[in-house]
Amino acid sequence: MTDVTMDKIVSLCRRRGFVFPSSEIYGGLGSTYDYGHYGVLMKNNIRALWLQSMIQERDDMVALDSAVILNPAVWEASGHVAGFSDPLVDCRTCKLRFRADKLDDAQCGKKPSKKPGEYSECDLTEARQFNLMFQTQVGAMEDASSTAYLRPETAQGIFINFKNVMQLARRKPPFGIAQTGKSFRNEITPGNFLFRVREFEQMEMEYFVPPGEAERWYEYWIEQRLQWYLDLGVRRSQLRVREHGAEERSHYSSATSDIEYLYPIGWQELEGVANRGDFDLTQHTKHSGTKLEWVGQEGERYTPHVIEPAVSIERIFVAMLVDGYDEEVVADRDRTVLRLHPEVAPIKAAILPLIPRNDDMVAKSRDLLQRLRRRWMVEYDDGGQIGRRYRRQDEIGTPWAFTIDDQTLEDDTVTVRDRDSLAQERLSLADVPAWLDEALQRPWHSPKP
Ligand code: ATP
Repeated sequence: MTDVTMDKIVSLCRRRGFVFPSSEIYGGLGSTYDYGHYGVLMKNNIRALWLQSMIQERDDMVALDSAVILNPAVWEASGHVAGFSDPLVDCRTCKLRFRADKLDDAQCGKKPSKKPGEYSECDLTEARQFNLMFQTQVGAMEDASSTAYLRPETAQGIFINFKNVMQLARRKPPFGIAQTGKSFRNEITPGNFLFRVREFEQMEMEYFVPPGEAERWYEYWIEQRLQWYLDLGVRRSQLRVREHGAEERSHYSSATSDIEYLYPIGWQELEGVANRGDFDLTQHTKHSGTKLEWVGQEGERYTPHVIEPAVSIERIFVAMLVDGYDEEVVADRDRTVLRLHPEVAPIKAAILPLIPRNDDMVAKSRDLLQRLRRRWMVEYDDGGQIGRRYRRQDEIGTPWAFTIDDQTLEDDTVTVRDRDSLAQERLSLADVPAWLDEALQRPWHSPKP
């Protein structure tokens, strides 16, 4: 079985232009990344699949896109100004900073690296709370009154729009509001590639329910979200649900479960599902003076409870790359292949003229390209040996390749090669769009053990 390390993932992402270290020509900016072509396409697919399952395929959900910079009072009310912090320790010797609750995962600045505190010279300070919100100034004045924050989560933008949505979208609990967008956290120790970064794209959904139904919907959303990963072909053996103990939960949450993935760094939170109770709506009611509650036609009223599935595209992106990464030897040659779900794969199909110098093959290939690209992200490649072109597509996870060869010129058929099985079959050129359409709808499971 292929040993999938984070280094292999990072190196593939760089080599094939999925992800680059940011600001590289200026020496980088620790743990900040830019997405290249295939990375953008894959990210877009993940977001679109999430929105499809959350909004398009349901009738109890609406979309929202709230601002990144909100009135700072929002973060007072939510408790972030007072409490969105991690415990920080400094080492007076090596001048590095660590999260006090993650010392076991940290590495000391001395070589060979050990855990902070394990060398006799280590001199750690007492832990103090470090607020993770990025501050900025709004407007031209630079005083306390202009201090604002980059949102550390998208959820609060949803809570403060509860009344707008309920009234204007005429919703009655249970209903949900879903949004995706950038969040910012000044993490003390970002790292492990995209797993922990300071700027990431969250996908959060707040599901408002009658108080008596919260427990049931909490269980429901854990199931739904787990199933979403399974439907996208992520291996069941690499996923687990872990319920938080009381000491780990936020004070307002009556229950939280993490959907964990077995990353190369061990089991880690991929997505969190929390029962947030009525904490958020109650807090914003208190601080804003606007009643955020449900009022029925007979005048019955209550503050809905909230179930929240929250995840970042980054953590899904890494999990899917790790789950898909494979190396094998085929006909005495090594190949690296990303066994991604076809819906997640950046490119759905490659179109390859067998002999790039043959004008007729090129013309037929270009014609097929034009027909397919209106509906799907496909790629034409006429650079180099066919074997090398197949391997390039394998490495970026393209599920199928259509090859235009001598026989195409005679009978208008092409071969289609399957990324996973390497099986080749022949089909009529005219049938390719219908074939691809059908192939993309077939259930897909990882062939990896
Ligand atoms: P952790 O304990 O790992 O710091 P958290 O419990 O603070 O995470 P939440 O506040 O529950 O995380 O955030 C919801 C989701 O947002 C997480 O499940 C994860 O998918 C994602 N996320 C949080 N922080 C980061 C980050 N720094 N980089 C990438 N994704 C993140």
